[in-house]
Amino acid sequence: MTTFGGNGYKKFSINPDTQAMLEIARREGIETVWDRLAKQEPQCGYCNLGTSCRICAMGPCRVDPFGDGPQKGVCGADADIIVARNLARMIAAGASAHSDHGRDILETLHLVGEGKGGVYGISDPDKLKRLAAEYGIPTEGKSDQEIAAELAWEMMEDYGMRRKKLPMAARAPAARQAVWENTGVYPRGIDRENVEALHRTHMGVDNDWVNILLHAVRTGLSDGWGGSLVATELSDVLFGVPTPKASNMNLGVLKADQVNIILHGHNPMLSEVIVAASQDPELLELARSKGANGINLAGLCCTGNEVLMRKGIPMAGNHLMQELCIITGAVEMMIVDYQCIMPAVTETAKCYHTKVISTFDKAKFPGAEHISFDPARGLEIGKEIVRKAVENFANRVPERVYIPVEPVPMMTGFSVEAIVGALGGTPEPLVNAIKEGAIRGAVGVVGCNNPKIKQDLGHTELTKRLIENDILVVVTGCATVADGKAGLMVPEAADLAGPGLGAVCRALGIPPVLHMGSCVDNTRILVLAAALANYLGVDISALPLAGAAPEWYSEKAVSIGAYVVASGIYTVLGTAPPVFGSPNVVKLLTEGLEGVFGATFAVEPDPNRAAVLIRRHIERKRAALGLPALDPDSIAMPEPALALF
Ligand code: SF4
Ligand code: SF4
Repeated sequence: MTTFGGNGYKKFSINPDTQAMLEIARREGIETVWDRLAKQEPQCGYCNLGTSCRICAMGPCRVDPFGDGPQKGVCGADADIIVARNLARMIAAGASAHSDHGRDILETLHLVGEGKGGVYGISDPDKLKRLAAEYGIPTEGKSDQEIAAELAWEMMEDYGMRRKKLPMAARAPAARQAVWENTGVYPRGIDRENVEALHRTHMGVDNDWVNILLHAVRTGLSDGWGGSLVATELSDVLFGVPTPKASNMNLGVLKADQVNIILHGHNPMLSEVIVAASQDPELLELARSKGANGINLAGLCCTGNEVLMRKGIPMAGNHLMQELCIITGAVEMMIVDYQCIMPAVTETAKCYHTKVISTFDKAKFPGAEHISFDPARGLEIGKEIVRKAVENFANRVPERVYIPVEPVPMMTGFSVEAIVGALGGTPEPLVNAIKEGAIRGAVGVVGCNNPKIKQDLGHTELTKRLIENDILVVVTGCATVADGKAGLMVPEAADLAGPGLGAVCRALGIPPVLHMGSCVDNTRILVLAAALANYLGVDISALPLAGAAPEWYSEKAVSIGAYVVASGIYTVLGTAPPVFGSPNVVKLLTEGLEGVFGATFAVEPDPNRAAVLIRRHIERKRAALGLPALDPDSIAMPEPALALF
């Protein structure tokens, strides 16, 4: 906790707010994620290669594919099997996380359908009816509540075992669905694919590493075209389809004269009612009586992205900022739901007056106060929580408050509906801009922070290289905060784009980097890609598109990568996945998948080099479509130059 002094903080993050807070942490002797990473080093080489296994009590085992050590575990599993099993389990865990989030939203829709939804209702009846039609539910003459009840009942079957195919996967072009059929990976039931992944990777079940990985792909697809898509679509139905709006980013969104509440996690159900509770006149009066000039909400991670997209609530930061927010001394409360919340936050909170409130019974945190969330009593619980935050303002120590920066403006709210709306109701203008070459293609830059990579460097450098080469960037999750803080998400950032993309952005009044939501909202990118492919009558893999996760850390990101590639989109990872202990698995992921899904993974930590890989890929796709294209080999690959770690 006192290891990094002086200028050394620049090694960990490109952001002034992070650097300033690390200095406070050092002075106060508070441990952060970077300290704990240092204490873990050197991390286990076997685990990094993916060749350690502890899934049964004959182990744990480690195999040594490149040395003289054991080549097989006690059961006889070699490096290929162990790496494939470990990767499949990562994908199943990530897909389960997203899909269980989707289930929670679906259960709320079910409550609304039963008339027991409390404060929740249908915010977007048109989207409700569109989804009902997709599921073959007649809507004529039915109330929203009746439709909600029937739709929820049908969607619950997406999690079961009766379906041969997930209904929303039919949004993919016919050619893509044929690929899934022919490969035997068309996703069926969400829970079924996840349970089968765990079954297959038990000792002594599926010992064919290719077969294991094919099912892992199917599990990922059940996330992208199933669980995550349920979460996105039903959140829109319940809370509204996001529309473009202005907001702010970084620790400067905290207000020294107000009660500050941080919303952290992924599920928007509670945060929606917290937004309502924070505007309650009685609670605002209570805040005034305590000497505060208001109640200020700020987001972190994907709960932050959800309320940013729909309500314009500003973001205090991304994954690596969760401890640092508390160190400002200005946070009365951090409300957590689930996923990506470090257990460490309650330890950091003990050093300040900050209360941490956990809210979901499946995600408890020692050191936090637990207030069990019940959607039927949503607003009542929301007010109870906000009241506690307001009352905690009196415990703030003004001398310890330090908010180091001014907020940076950004623009949010680019749902597929909003993008198509901005284009005049049809994707045609975007398609034409791509055809003419003003926009070369589009890339989703998504995912997390990882303390192994200098915070936000991977996201921002890659994004800058792409937009300056006329490639439209869409962002979700923690990448959003990185690019927002870097000033890339305002219309004025058109000046940082190439001449073609810049002109399109100026004409439409949009930034060259569009915020499409939270991590489950990567499905918005899939749906947009499918809509473009359907419009052109081609498969998704034919389009000049790519994905990138420059700083990923989470199992959910692995699931996202699996469904994005299996949907036909080339994807470049910045952090190396634990697969390099099996050259066979690496060859399959980086080359072999091309012949199966028309897309592969690449691993390139240097964002400038990753940008060149993506640009070459986009030009190849353009040429294959008969569009004006550069010679990919004319795009020079730079030597690795950035200090990333
Ligand atoms: S499954 Fe095999 S490799 Fe894994 S721990 Fe058991 S014996 Fe070892
Ligand atoms: S992008 Fe990664 S770190 Fe950020 S909220 Fe999503 S899964 Fe968590």
